[in-house]
This record gives sequence, C-alpha cells and structure tokens, in this order.
Amino acid sequence: MERLKGKVAVVTGGSVGIGAATVTRMAEEGAAVAILDCQDREGNALASQLTDRGLKAGYWHCDVSKEQEVKQVLDQVADTFGSLTVLVNNAGISGPNKPTHELTEEEWDRVQNVNVKGVFFCTKHAIPHMKKARVGSIINLSSIYGLVGAPDVPPYHASKGAVRLMTKTDAMVYATENIRVNSIHPGFIWTPMVEGHLKTTGQDLEAAKQATAALHPVGHMGEPDDIAWGAVYLASEESKFMTGSELVIDGGYTAH
Ligand code: NAP
Repeated sequence: MERLKGKVAVVTGGSVGIGAATVTRMAEEGAAVAILDCQDREGNALASQLTDRGLKAGYWHCDVSKEQEVKQVLDQVADTFGSLTVLVNNAGISGPNKPTHELTEEEWDRVQNVNVKGVFFCTKHAIPHMKKARVGSIINLSSIYGLVGAPDVPPYHASKGAVRLMTKTDAMVYATENIRVNSIHPGFIWTPMVEGHLKTTGQDLEAAKQATAALHPVGHMGEPDDIAWGAVYLASEESKFMTGSELVIDGGYTAH
C-alpha cells in the first residue's frame, strides 16, 4: 500500500511505543520517516530495521523541550528528505502521579515543558517547511485525559487538555494554507509509558493491568497499532476534509 507516497513525516518520541508503531506504519505506507527521540539506541535500531527492508527512515536525537535543537533537527530532516509535510507530535511523559497539593513547581513545569511546549516548538518550526511545500498535516497526541478527568496525574491532564485546544486554534490559523491539524485521543495503550505509570500506583502490576483494562467497555487495553493506523489516516489525503477534529480511539472509555 502507498497511502503516504511522497510524504515526509516526523514522529517525535518515535523510538518506542505508539511512536514506533506510527513510524513503522507510515514507512510501510510509503512515507520517508524521521524518528526523533532521546532514546538513541532504540531509535537507531528502528531506523536500521526499516531501511534494511528498503523503506525510507532515519533517526535524529532531539529533545522536544529544547527549541534550538528542534529547529536544527527539523531543518536537517527537510534537507535530507527534500521537504517536511507531516508532523506527529507524539513525544510525551506521564509525569508524577501525586495529588495537586503535593506537586512541586519543577514537577509541574517538566510535564508542561515536554507535553505542551514540545508541541509548540515542533509545530512552530515545522510550519515554515509545510508552507514551502504548500501542504501539511499535524497530528497531536492528546489523550482521553485531555477530554475527561480521572483522579490521577494532574499535570498530565492539564497538558493534554492544552494540546486538545492548541490543535483547534492551529487548525483555524492554518486552514487556508492547506495545513491541517488534528488530535488523537487514545485510551490506555500498552506501552513503556503505561507500564511505568501503573508501577506508580503501588498495586501489583498484574492487578493494575486488569483494573485498567476493565475501564474500557471492550474489556482490554489497546495496542500501539490501534493508534498508528489513526495517524496514517490523518496524515493521508483520505482525511483531506478533516481539521481541528478529535479522533478518539479508546475502546469506548469516554462513551459512558
Ligand atoms: P512512551 O512509551 O513513553 O514513548 C514515548 C517516547 O517519547 C519515549 O521514547 C520517550 O523517551 C520519548 N520522549 C519523552 N520525552 C521526550 C522529549 N523531551 N523529547 C523527545 N522524546 C521524548 O509513550 P507512549 O505510551 O507511546 O505515548 C506516546 C504519546 O501518546 C504520548 O504523548 C502520550 O501522552 C500519548 N498517550 C499515550 C497513551 C497510552 O496509553 N500509552 C494514552 C493516551 C495518550 P523516554 O522514555 O526517555 O521518556
């Protein structure tokens, strides 16, 4: 299949989890894909695995919370692949699982710096390349936690709510320039992030997994590909009339 033929995609946090699945599916659909992350070993291994299969991919070290690093890397990606037309703002951290009155300012800021400022920096420095190409699709990973509340990870909820509305504003700002901006809202997907998060609950990991699975009407958590295919759709011309929208992929979590 060549649903993304001719596209050049950047996937932040692309070394593992949802990002790695998105990288893989986008490359298989014909895009040239830049993996950006701080997990260099996993990112380089994924890039090699894809290029060994004859697909187009490369790895760049990039901390999305550092503006100069983001600008430099996005410029290098555009030089390497000839343009930049898809940005998946996927890098994110869950942050400390403490009630609001116990959080420090540093803990709060760290989550916002990656999850919110990172989306701002990557979008800011991708837009000039998309304007040049006269086409673009920006896909922001928000969460069910950007739609509804739950009694945990307060800074994460705040960050994902912000990403939801940044998406809508940018969608309107760039709509006439053929640059679309949409958000994806996953339910719990089994990745290193969720494993790390469940370990902070103090419960036995298996019990925590089962309790989390039960929050979804379908009775189980999702897998990274469930989200990757949504991202492929939003990156492709199949979704050309879609901007400012929320693609909820959550096993029914928010349906009740
Ligand atoms: P993950 O398994 O933790 O993978 C995220 C990747 O992003 C990791 O390699 C991580 O590196 C990297 N990263 C973190 N901070 C970064 C930074 N400053 N610059 C560059 N890369 C950075 O996460 P995931 O579960 O796949 O989640 C991906 C996205 O989906 C996140 O935005 C998350 O909030 C969102 N999401 C996930 C779920 C879920 O259930 N998994 C649900 C809703 C939304 P480190 O390991 O070094 O941090």
